[in-house]
Amino acid sequence: MKYYSLNRKAKDVDFSEAVVRGLAPDNGLYFPENIKSLPQSFFENITELSNHEIAYQAIRQFVSEAIPDHELKTIVEDTLCFDFPVVRLNNNISTLELFHGPTMAFKDVGARFMARCLGYFNKNNTNEVTVLVATSGDTGGAVASGFLGVKGVNVVILYPSGKVSEIQEKQLTTLGQNITALEVDGTFDDCQAMVKKAFVDQELINHMQLTSANSINVARWLPQLFYFLFAYKTLKQKQKHQSVVFSIPSGNFGNICAGMIAQKLGMPVKHFIASNNENNVVTRYLKTGVYDVKPSVQTISNAMDVGSPSNFIRIQELHNNDFETLKSNLSSYYFTDDVTREALDEIYTKYGYIADPHGAVGYLGCKAYLETQPNAHCVFLETAHPTKFLDVVEEVIQTELILPEQIKAVMDKTKTAIAIEDYQSFKNYLLSKKF
Ligand SMILES: *Cc1c(COP(=O)(O)O)cnc(C)c1O
Repeated sequence: MKYYSLNRKAKDVDFSEAVVRGLAPDNGLYFPENIKSLPQSFFENITELSNHEIAYQAIRQFVSEAIPDHELKTIVEDTLCFDFPVVRLNNNISTLELFHGPTMAFKDVGARFMARCLGYFNKNNTNEVTVLVATSGDTGGAVASGFLGVKGVNVVILYPSGKVSEIQEKQLTTLGQNITALEVDGTFDDCQAMVKKAFVDQELINHMQLTSANSINVARWLPQLFYFLFAYKTLKQKQKHQSVVFSIPSGNFGNICAGMIAQKLGMPVKHFIASNNENNVVTRYLKTGVYDVKPSVQTISNAMDVGSPSNFIRIQELHNNDFETLKSNLSSYYFTDDVTREALDEIYTKYGYIADPHGAVGYLGCKAYLETQPNAHCVFLETAHPTKFLDVVEEVIQTELILPEQIKAVMDKTKTAIAIEDYQSFKNYLLSKKF
C-alpha cells in the first residue's frame, strides 16, 4: 500500500515510512492510496472467524510489503489480547466496550499495534526513534503502556497540567524506562501545537528521528477499524446487524474515521454519528457548512476536548471532499456537561449500567439519532472504563465504584514529570537528550 500526503506536496511512501515519519514532510496527514473492499463472503461468514483472523484480513492490505504476513499475524495477536463485548441496553441501543485493555481505554489497540510495528522496523536498526505524543487524557497512558520496553524507541508524552484525571496522570507518569512525561503549562491544543512544530523544526530533525503516536500516525489510527468489525460480528450473531448505526464519542476524529474505513472495506453500516461535548466544530460545520475552529474548552469528557480535530480532513477525503456526500453518512450532535451528567444517571437508573462521561455522550448521540430514525440499532462506543473518571461518575450515580486491578496497580506509584512552559523549553529538553 502506498500513502499520499493530504497536502499533496510530498512524495508517496510505503507503510513503514508513513509510520516512521508520522506526518509527511509537507505537514500533511498520510492517507492510503487505494483501499480495496474485502470480499463479500468475508462479511457473510464473519461470525465464523476469530477476532485475530478478522483483524489480520482487514489490516493486511494497509501494511502489505512493509511487514511479512507471518510477522503481521504475530503483531495482530499480541495487540489483541483482550475482549470487545457488546452490551445491550435496550432493543435499539447497545454499547461496544473498548476498555478491557491494559490502560482501560480504546487507544490500547492502536498504541499496541503501532509499538509492535515500530519494534519490527527497528529490529535490525541501530537508529533510535523518538515518539512524540500529545495527550488530552487517554492517549498518553495507552502509548506509555504499549511502548514500554520496546527497543530503540523513546517515548516523550506531553500532557496539559491539571487537565487530565488523576488516574490518567498516574498511567503516563509512573512507568519510567523509555517513557518520559512532560507536564505542559497549557491546554491539549498547546501540547498538540508543540508536537506539530517539533516535526518541522530543522534543528530537531537533524538531531533525532521524530515520529508521532497520535492518531495522525497511520499505525495508531488504522487498527481502530478492528473493533467496528468485531461489533458487527457480535451483532450478526445476535441478529442485530441490520441498520447498524455507530455513535462515536469524538475528539480528534481518528476513531470515527477508522470506522468509516471499515465501511469502505465493505462492512454494512447505515450511518455514523459523531457525538461531541462543547468542543463542537464538526456539529456546527455539518449544520452551516462553515468550518469555524475555536480554542478547546474544558469538559468532563476531557479526552474529547479538542478544538481542531486532526483527522477531520481524512473524513472529508473519504467522502471525496463533498459536503452532501459527507452529510448523508455522518450526523453530529453535541452535549453540555450538565446533559452528560443526566445521561450518566439515566443509564445507571434505567439500565443498571455504569458508563463513563465519554460513553454517556455517545449514548446521547444514539438517543438524538433514534428520534428521527426509530428503527435503527445504535451502538455507542464506551471508550474508557468509568473508574478513569471516578470523581464525576461517583458523584452522579452516588455509588462507590470498584477499582479494576489495572487501575489499582498504578494508583500507589509515584509521579515523575518534567515541567514545560513553552515550545523553547520543550525543544531544549529534546536537544539535551542523546537518544
Ligand atoms: C481519545 C478518546 C476519545 C476521542 O477519540 P478520537 O479518536 O480522538 O476522536 C474519546 N474517548 C476517550 C475515552 C478517549 O480516550
